[in-house]
Amino acid sequence: MVLLLLLIGTAYWLFARRLTLDLEQKAQAMARDVAFAVEHEEGKLQFEESIYLARRLQHPDLNSDAVVQWLDLGGTLLHHQGDLRLQPRSPQDGRGYRQLDPPAYVYVVQGLEAGRPFGYARVGLALAPLNQQLGRLAQILGLLGLSTLAIMAAVSWWWTGRVLQPIRTAYAELSMFTGAVAHELRSPLTALRTNSDSLLHHFDRLSPAELRQALQEFGEVTADMSQLVESLLLLARLRRDETGAELQVLNLREIAGEVVGSLAEGAARKGLTLALERDPGEKPLTVRAQPDYLRMMIRNLVENALQYTSEGGRVSLRCLEAGGEAELQVRDTGIGISPDDLDRVFDPFWRAERSRARHLGGAGLGLAIVSGLARAQRGSVAARSAPGEGSVFTIRFPLA
Ligand code: ADP
Repeated sequence: MVLLLLLIGTAYWLFARRLTLDLEQKAQAMARDVAFAVEHEEGKLQFEESIYLARRLQHPDLNSDAVVQWLDLGGTLLHHQGDLRLQPRSPQDGRGYRQLDPPAYVYVVQGLEAGRPFGYARVGLALAPLNQQLGRLAQILGLLGLSTLAIMAAVSWWWTGRVLQPIRTAYAELSMFTGAVAHELRSPLTALRTNSDSLLHHFDRLSPAELRQALQEFGEVTADMSQLVESLLLLARLRRDETGAELQVLNLREIAGEVVGSLAEGAARKGLTLALERDPGEKPLTVRAQPDYLRMMIRNLVENALQYTSEGGRVSLRCLEAGGEAELQVRDTGIGISPDDLDRVFDPFWRAERSRARHLGGAGLGLAIVSGLARAQRGSVAARSAPGEGSVFTIRFPLA
């Protein structure tokens, strides 16, 4: 802003200086021209005989804004040409910008013949045209400055908006995240508080069995809260990229087999088929990953598949090599996910139907953690699904 004002000021000053110099040079040149073009005899000016003067009188600069006066040595006005009124008449008033009406620049030249003065030529140029030009210049520069300011303001507004957008988004995400955490913790904390109040109130009347059951419930609720806090901490570490995951060469099929083995009993209890599909002659599928993290990812996907598939359904795992990567698919025949929701399944705290998921006990952090873990190990995870037709969650890792 200051720089712009400085630039405009300098431009105005330079132009004004140029125009003023032009005016002064013009006046000086005219004065010299006419002073030395005048015929004179024995120290006296002879206008009538002057052939030069006849030409000078048609000088294109001699218009209503200019005047040329010839004065004798005593300062008496002998002749003048041009319409501008020039006061005072004494040649001693000299040159310069005179406070005349109208304002003018005056230049006086003494005519000399063999070193002897014979008179004066005085040229006056009105300042009105110069002031008009300067006024126009000020207008143009002002407009230029204003439009530059407007453009700069628009550009900086747009640019600031652009720069601030990620910060705004991050802030909004943080607020939503904090709100969701508070929301998730509020229910178990309220339950703990009401139960402890009622326990204290009826303490003397409670049997040891009732007391044990109440304490068991406390234990379950606090275990759920600890699990939630652990998940949040892991998510925070994953977001800061601070897991320090030391990657090892692992056989993806082997880890998938271990997870299937550990969840087989639970699946059977729910009346579901859980299987790791094996292709004839298959080789180990090696990836670089952190064993606990890889197990956690597969377990999470399989647990979700078992959770959102009803009795009689099937959950199958398949390991394969595709496009130079190792791929693990977890496929279920469950309730599926609508296309609109599919984009959001990896968002923290997102659940397809809050009431349903709450009933099933999920906090909506599992898939966010899977996605974070995949990134931390240079892998990726994706989902395909259709409501009523089941889902396929695929994790991919570069081949080791
Ligand atoms: P949650 O702890 O609720 O399972 P997740 O992050 O693991 O949290 O999953 C987020 C949501 O994605 C779930 O609440 C559920 O609505 C949906 N979802 C995840 N896996 C499946 C699946 N295999 N079939 C259908 N819906 C699923």
